[in-house]
Amino acid sequence: MRRVRMRSGGGLRAILYTLQKARQSGGVRRFYRRMAARNACKTCALGMGGQQGGMTNEQGRFPEFCKKSVQAQAADMQPPIPPEFFARHSLPELLRWTPRELEHAGRIGFPLHAGPGDEHFRRVGWDEALDRIATALRSTPPERAMFYSSGRASNEAAFLLQWFARAWGTNHVNNCSYYCHNASGVGLSRALGSGTGTVDLDDLARADFAMVLGANPASNHPRLIPPLVDLRARGGQVVIVNPIRELGLVRFRIPSRPLSLLFGSRVSDRYLQPRVGGDVALIVGMIKRVLERGAEDRTFIERHTTGFEEVERAAREAPWRDLEEGSGLRREEIEDVADLYAASRNAILFWAMGITHHEHGVGNVLALANLALVRGMVGRPGAGLCPIRGHSNVQGVGSVGFTPELKQAFREAMQREFGLQVPRFKGYSTYESMVAASEGRLDFALLLGGNLYGSNPDLAFAGRALRSIGLTVNVSTKLNSGHVHGRGRDALILPALARDEERQATSQESMFSFVRLSDGGAPAPTAEMRSEVEIIGALARRVLPPSRIPWEDLTNHAVLRAAIARIVPGYAPLGELDRSKREFTVAGRIRHTPEFPTVDGRARFHVTPLPPRNDDGALALVTVRSEGQFNTVVYEEEDVYRGQERRDVVMLHPQDAARLGFREDQRVRVIGEAGVLEDLLVRFLDVAPGTAVLYYPEANVLLARRIDPDSGTPAFKHGRVRLEPMTVAPGRADPVPAGARR
Ligand code: SF4
Repeated sequence: MRRVRMRSGGGLRAILYTLQKARQSGGVRRFYRRMAARNACKTCALGMGGQQGGMTNEQGRFPEFCKKSVQAQAADMQPPIPPEFFARHSLPELLRWTPRELEHAGRIGFPLHAGPGDEHFRRVGWDEALDRIATALRSTPPERAMFYSSGRASNEAAFLLQWFARAWGTNHVNNCSYYCHNASGVGLSRALGSGTGTVDLDDLARADFAMVLGANPASNHPRLIPPLVDLRARGGQVVIVNPIRELGLVRFRIPSRPLSLLFGSRVSDRYLQPRVGGDVALIVGMIKRVLERGAEDRTFIERHTTGFEEVERAAREAPWRDLEEGSGLRREEIEDVADLYAASRNAILFWAMGITHHEHGVGNVLALANLALVRGMVGRPGAGLCPIRGHSNVQGVGSVGFTPELKQAFREAMQREFGLQVPRFKGYSTYESMVAASEGRLDFALLLGGNLYGSNPDLAFAGRALRSIGLTVNVSTKLNSGHVHGRGRDALILPALARDEERQATSQESMFSFVRLSDGGAPAPTAEMRSEVEIIGALARRVLPPSRIPWEDLTNHAVLRAAIARIVPGYAPLGELDRSKREFTVAGRIRHTPEFPTVDGRARFHVTPLPPRNDDGALALVTVRSEGQFNTVVYEEEDVYRGQERRDVVMLHPQDAARLGFREDQRVRVIGEAGVLEDLLVRFLDVAPGTAVLYYPEANVLLARRIDPDSGTPAFKHGRVRLEPMTVAPGRADPVPAGARR
């Protein structure tokens, strides 16, 4: 494949790609019908579609879609994997398949089983599969089982499964946000009393300043780019903070706008490239400058916050030299963006996993909350804080209780409704579940979507942990590395319907706390695929004794929505949604007044010390997603925005490459704290010096299990690696280690 150098993100190439995918999926008309159906977009949490029609956002703007949504839709429209596939391809062979090859094998069309010592998955019937699960659960003590959900699951499925897990007796209920934005939830809860973002899309239309930290929405949330371009067109400023200079955050050709498509649109006014882990130093420096200019909002601070004096003192006393060294930025650069911020009327701070994926992820989020509070940028229209979340319903899964701990009101409501006694023992977070599995303390795991194996640091550990579980049950639409590398001693894969194939409507919540209703209704690729709710209901009827809980009724999604409406705070309109079709913003989330759900009603400042720096000479490892992937799912090998045609590369600043004696395309061994990757190609990238950039999830094999103690989130953006040259022996195509010629 040829390396392509682009000069802007988006553009004609994205349109041609869409047409190509549409043709591959059975024709443009068929593809358009699927995209335009009244379903929430299946990809990112920005949220599109629903009752206003597919590709329409909550402001009624059309067409709102992107390559990510096209990729996900095309992947779901693949034909089912034929039964002979599993006879032809053994498990040892599938272990060698890349994430992309597994994704492109097709849809999983029937239940699959592999027992201890089996070399192949084999097709089984639903009764056999469900009986195996029921038998395993009957012999498993509740504290030795876990239930996990990705953000793919609907609110109805996630609510029912957490309910089932608790009725059966366990609190080991956790979700994928522990590995992405839990640091945001913890940080925002401490600062504001609520763990979700404080703005909606209308706020973005009113803002005159946006700062986007540790995120690459041009690749991962593409429809966030047009509102940023519009903000600039109104005379506002956009500041990007990212160690990597991402092409799509500099210039983007918005395919749905002819002028932008032709000439491109500038996305950012300033682009800071701090060193990895330098965000707290940058933010403290910005606060220091705001205070020096007297640009803080004293009235807001006095009336609506606590803890300001300590933060003020820490910022005023912080030496500029420490802030410069800590951030890797010059004082003038920090002061410059702080001045823009100080002059703004309505500012929104956005961030993603470049902020949360650190051992001090919560500290990063608290620093951002301080920055917003110091100018009173929370609690009024047009301003606020917004974590850019990943999967389309990751926020909803948490809202409906798929978490190890339930808030008291939620727990009491579950008890009141159906007499459910929620177990009292402390549930495992996602990482705690992995540790428990590795220590032989788990016999059963039900994984509703996602790829838990691939989402872990230290993949050797993750594989060992999951393989030591007695029975793993994956409810999936397509194959992924978790099915083979993270397969329990006994393993089942159950084929699930995609969102737009559901036989009953489902609901999803976006990162702006907007709840959509998806009609479903597209034909299922095989008759054996079942909805997530159907599967959970069938399991509950097999496993649980008769009780006040009407499990039969609870496979009716409208009944589930009515229960969610009564139990989940802010979700009351969900009970009427089938009739009203009126999608809604969860009450109490968007902060347009300075009222905070804390004990004293005030927001809270927190002192955020500068994190320690590693000066051991190793490169800081940052794992990234490519433009051709979403989370662990790899749709395309190429990453066009970074000019990479393959994924087995390590991207370095040219100065680092020169300092270390590497040239472009040289083969190297990358030695991480937990593992080694052989035979990667050195590639140059405009990235903060001292950084090595590799693709997630393949590079997770290198990462030690450095976990943020406050949120349980692994430091996927802050590992340590060293590089060694590899040489190719004469007459050999494959490299051998330097100094070890054969
Ligand atoms: S930006 Fe996100 S929600 Fe919008 S179309 Fe793209 S993937 Fe879907």
